[in-house]
Amino acid sequence: MSGDHYDVLVIGSGPGGATTAARVAETGKRVLILERGDFLPRERDNWDSRAVFGAAKYTADETFYDLRDRPFRPELHYCVGGNSKVYGAALVRLLPSDFGEVRHPDGIAPAWPLSYDDMEPYYVRAEHLFWVHGKHGEDPFAGVSSKDYRYPPVSPAAWRAPYAGRGRPGDHGFTMHPLRPRRRFPLPARRQGRRGMGGAPPGPDRASQPVADDQDDR
Ligand SMILES: Cc1cc2nc3c(=O)[nH]c(=O)nc-3n(C[C@H](O)[C@H](O)[C@H](O)COP(=O)(O)OP(=O)(O)OC[C@H]3O[C@@H](n4cnc5c(N)ncnc54)[C@H](O)[C@@H]3O)c2cc1C
Repeated sequence: MSGDHYDVLVIGSGPGGATTAARVAETGKRVLILERGDFLPRERDNWDSRAVFGAAKYTADETFYDLRDRPFRPELHYCVGGNSKVYGAALVRLLPSDFGEVRHPDGIAPAWPLSYDDMEPYYVRAEHLFWVHGKHGEDPFAGVSSKDYRYPPVSPAAWRAPYAGRGRPGDHGFTMHPLRPRRRFPLPARRQGRRGMGGAPPGPDRASQPVADDQDDR
């Protein structure tokens, strides 16, 4: 490697570094990614929320200090892929209203210098790069999407497959795989909260009525 030439050096192979490297590589530049961690071993435990979260099996063995100098162990994972190796894989867009000024009980979060429309083309590119599955147009609060996801929503049967023979996903704890939420109850409080932050008002039916549970797979 010592004699090799690289045009761009990216430090860290997490989503940020890897995305940058992928984009720069498209231009034909030679890119070198430096990663401090090793490959995460491929084993049962990194699919197990008890090992990942409960036992913090893969968490960096470091001590950080908060504002009051109290030590804590950061939830960081130093490995190829960074935190994406253990994350929830839920890649969501912010709502258009999230970019504006938001008034909280404790103060005001100022507006971003960018709008949802500025970010929208980049959301599309990220969603395609990361193989996000889903369907736009189902959330009445979501912003406009200029392109569909490349892949449809993951079916319950597909996300359940890794648990075959191990009981239902619910028996195992919560899963770390993307899935559609099971909605058996109305969500007026949360939706009202979103509306209070400046989002578009929901249609009367969708805000106050239970959403049909078409995902009942148990
Ligand atoms: C348990 C968990 C669940 C999460 N779930 C979600 C989710 O569902 N959806 C979502 O959007 N986000 C989720 N996140 C957050 C998401 O994982 C992070 O926002 C994302 O990984 C940040 O990417 P990053 O590239 O900035 O940093 P990181 O992922 O932290 O990557 C940084 C990389 O740089 C390396 N590095 C650091 N310093 C150096 C150095 N000096 N030299 C070389 N390499 C170095 C590290 O080893 C690491 O690999 C979750 C995070 C955790 C911990």
